[in-house]
Amino acid sequence: MTKDITKHPCFNKSEAGSCGRVHLPVAPKCNIQCNYCNRKYDCVNESRPGVTSSVLKPFQAAEYMDKVLEKEPRITVAGIAGPGDPFANPAETLETMRLLNRKHPHLIFCLSTNGMGILPYLDDIAELGVSHVTITLSAVDPAIGAKIYSWVRDGNVVYRGEQGAKVLLERQLSAIKGLKERGIVVKVNSILIPGVNEDHLVEVARVASELGADIQNIIPLKPTADTPFAHLPEPGRETVLPLRKEATTFIEQMTHCKRCRADAVGLLGDDQSASLCGTLSACSK
Ligand code: SF4
Ligand code: SF4
Repeated sequence: MTKDITKHPCFNKSEAGSCGRVHLPVAPKCNIQCNYCNRKYDCVNESRPGVTSSVLKPFQAAEYMDKVLEKEPRITVAGIAGPGDPFANPAETLETMRLLNRKHPHLIFCLSTNGMGILPYLDDIAELGVSHVTITLSAVDPAIGAKIYSWVRDGNVVYRGEQGAKVLLERQLSAIKGLKERGIVVKVNSILIPGVNEDHLVEVARVASELGADIQNIIPLKPTADTPFAHLPEPGRETVLPLRKEATTFIEQMTHCKRCRADAVGLLGDDQSASLCGTLSACSK
């Protein structure tokens, strides 16, 4: 079976009704701390990034993939989106991609990352057939980034404030450029945080477009308990839609994101993570 990389329901809205994705939760650790993220709550009823009911080892993820494909043959995409960051767990991420490449080469492989740790692995992921990568880029000014990230870790060194935001930003911009040089489709996810970056996201769109990114996904903040941004309001359509309209002059906009869990599975509008939860937890044992 040949691989058709247009059949990605997130990057190609016209496929969202017929093609599904599975997120394989093999990456528990993270190398930065976003002020909107809390990965403590692993509830199957909760739908947002960073949440999963189990963490799988690479061989378990490959077995889980076999079972998911038996139950839901419409899956065209295998992705890793946490629950931490794929490149804070590079060995697990690359091993999972290797196994999938061997067993299910017809699938589209997709990774979603903050961009901090991806640079040493750009050639590996291109060779493993990863065709789609999402970089979460919510600021292109370290002064604004410093309000979004409480720390950034590079090996054993932890950076905070503007210094941390600057280190992260440099990696993210180099990552987008390097991915495009390798022919990979790049989406930029930008979290819209009221009072922090809503006046800045069009600039993010401009910079991402200049680097060759293909599409931007402006995602309204989902305020989460026990985070510094828990008290902020969730932006509504009246805020999001005009921003997307302005940003679209620079880069195509994604308009159908479902803010999925790290173990999401199925069609975007019909997530089956609750019904396949038993399969996931059986594979994690
Ligand atoms: Fe959470 Fe993802 Fe941010 Fe890491 S990069 S802190 S997992 S939202
Ligand atoms: Fe697609 Fe958005 Fe879900 Fe990611 S969070 S898989 S971009 S719908």
